[in-house]
Amino acid sequence: MKKMTVKLKIVIWYTAAITVISAIVLIAMTSLSRDMIERDLIGRITRTVTDSSRQAFSPDGKMHLRPDFKFYQNGVHMVLYDGNADIIGGQVPFGIEDSIDFDDDNLRRLKLGGNEYYIYDRAIRHHEADNEYWMRGIISVSDENGAAGAVAKNNLLLTILLILLSSAGGYFIVKKAFVPVDKISKTAKQISESSDLSQRINIGNGNDEIYRLANTFDEMLDRIEQAFEREKQFTSDASHELRTPAAVILSECEYMLDCASTDEEFRESALSVKRQAEKMSKLISELLTISRMDKNTLKAEFENTDISELLSFVCDEQEEIHDGATQLIRNIPDGIFAEADRFLIARLFINLISNSYQYIGNGNQITVSLASDDRNVVCSVKDNGIGISSENIPKIWERFYQADNSRTADGSMGLGLSMVKWISDCHNGTLSVTSEPGKGSEFVFTLPKKSK
Ligand code: ADP
Repeated sequence: MKKMTVKLKIVIWYTAAITVISAIVLIAMTSLSRDMIERDLIGRITRTVTDSSRQAFSPDGKMHLRPDFKFYQNGVHMVLYDGNADIIGGQVPFGIEDSIDFDDDNLRRLKLGGNEYYIYDRAIRHHEADNEYWMRGIISVSDENGAAGAVAKNNLLLTILLILLSSAGGYFIVKKAFVPVDKISKTAKQISESSDLSQRINIGNGNDEIYRLANTFDEMLDRIEQAFEREKQFTSDASHELRTPAAVILSECEYMLDCASTDEEFRESALSVKRQAEKMSKLISELLTISRMDKNTLKAEFENTDISELLSFVCDEQEEIHDGATQLIRNIPDGIFAEADRFLIARLFINLISNSYQYIGNGNQITVSLASDDRNVVCSVKDNGIGISSENIPKIWERFYQADNSRTADGSMGLGLSMVKWISDCHNGTLSVTSEPGKGSEFVFTLPKKSK
């Protein structure tokens, strides 16, 4: 069986609720109005007959009804009888027998000829008078109830009309409200069928929850598309960076096999192969670290670490790797310890210092400083290199980001600082950077001494 749509469910529930409420109101109103009509009938017949009977005699005991006395008042038929039950005024409504016994001041409800009536008698006596009279009031209950029934029928028709109108209106509103939801599901379907992440819902700027949902969905698609593009860029960059050293290694090997004849030539080629293999190895290790970071399999192992010793060791290594044109100044006091993962913190120092070497440009100086207080260890790496423009500073922490002018041939791929950020975060550390193009940059890493 086809599943009911949410739209249909809402409209059905809503219509059912309106129907139940309307039915309750209608029943309550009908029974209330019947009650009121009944009370009105009783009040009218007793009042009219009683008042009329009081006016029947003059003070001297003579029967005296004004010549203009009306035997039909307030919907009540009145009939005046003498002591022998003969009618001397008024007329019994059609279909009612004359033979009903008199019963003073007792309201009776009788079914006569298929209709219901209230009958109310008042005896008219006077101490001066020699005779007794009766004033009888008759009012039709069926007529009044019939009128009330007609009103109730009209009300019922109006209520049905109201239910139909409000259901149609409700359906229209629900349908309109669900337009963005339909667009969301259509867009999601199109994306999954075509893998085209550039599709958007583009619903505009409404203010309700569904509009907000659609806009959030679009924002999410923006981010997914960007991440997807970056991943694609990463794959193509990684293959490109790996292809160059691989090609060099292949051609050096071919040269050794086909052309090299002297030890010196073999040595030259072997050295070139070694350099390219080192480059590849560095790249592959970075890629592996990134993928372990992503899979959460890389976890910091905290131990009491001599940060002074670690930083000095990294500085020695970096000085050795890079040529002597750049001066590396160290302000590293001995004996600064913190709870840290020595492998990861060394990686962080390597990335910061090697970046300073890499982006030194026309500069010539890198200063590495270490300091500490009761709680934190603070490490600063400062250079007078090419600097970073202020609009690029927020982006440098993003994975695969490289400022345009920063592409180098040594296999760097814009992964270094994202790794630095990840390492800092898992040590609950903070990072800040101040930089000015052409003047240099300073990266400051603050590491809490206690890991928790
Ligand atoms: P890369 O592999 O390109 O060095 P990083 O993530 O380490 O990647 O750095 C990202 C970008 O930040 C670099 O491409 C560069 O533009 C900029 N950057 C990082 N360190 C420095 C620095 N010391 N001086 C100038 N620019 C820097």
